[in-house]
Order: sequence, then C-alpha cells, then structure tokens
Amino acid sequence: MKQCNCCKESTLDYIIDAQDNIVCDECGIKDYCFCDECGEYVKTESCEVIEDRWDVSVVCDKCSLPIEVTKILNSLSLIPLDSVGCYIDTKSWIVYPCKGNKEIDLDNGVHLDDCTEEWLSEMSTSDLLILAHKL
Ligand SMILES: [Zn+2]
Ligand SMILES: [Zn+2]
Repeated sequence: MKQCNCCKESTLDYIIDAQDNIVCDECGIKDYCFCDECGEYVKTESCEVIEDRWDVSVVCDKCSLPIEVTKILNSLSLIPLDSVGCYIDTKSWIVYPCKGNKEIDLDNGVHLDDCTEEWLSEMSTSDLLILAHKL
C-alpha cells in the first residue's frame, strides 16, 4: 500500500507523476494528464493539448516550449556559419546568434544588412562561399 500525495488515502493502484509523487488512480484520472512528449504524468493545469495536421497530443508545459521552438526552426531555412558562431535564415536573411551548445537564440536575430563589417570580416572564406551560393 502507498499513500496518495493528493488525497492522502492509502492506495494499491497508483501512478508516479513527473515530480515522483504517488498519485492514486482516482486522483490521477481527475487531475492528471499523460504527456506524450516526455511520457510523464503531469497535473492537468500544466498540460496543453496541441493539435497539428497529423494528430492531437497532450504536452506538459516543460515540453511545449521546445515544440514551439522546433516549429519556428522548421519554418526557417537555417544554415550554420561556424566561423562566426551564428545561423542565417536564407529566406529572410536574418542572422541568429548561438547560445552556447549550438542552441539558436531566436530572440536576437539581426538582418544581414545590419551586421557590422567587423562581423563579416571575421567570417571564414568557406562560410562566405556558402552565403555567396545562396545569394
Ligand atoms: Zn488520491
Ligand atoms: Zn512533458
């Protein structure tokens, strides 16, 4: 027997949520959703139902953020410019810096026209060639 963290009743049938709480079946059905992304039981209030062209999925608030970012990334045509640690979107010519571990900083994009000459001069020949091919 385990004690349910929600209703404090003893229970045989329980789930373990994302925070390692024991939750009885009854409370689970009432208050929890199963996140399709991380496979954890998460409180319904921090779950979101996401509908896209293919299916409907339930996603917790921890997982929904990366999904949004992925959606944005999929709509861009990004190519890496390794010599300056940036990505450029060849549809809009916006340059995005990287935030360390190759994560793209989508909030701080700058149009190629607004990049400084100094920045351009730091770019390697091979990266410049990539750009030249796309232009
Ligand atoms: Zn309970
Ligand atoms: Zn999740």
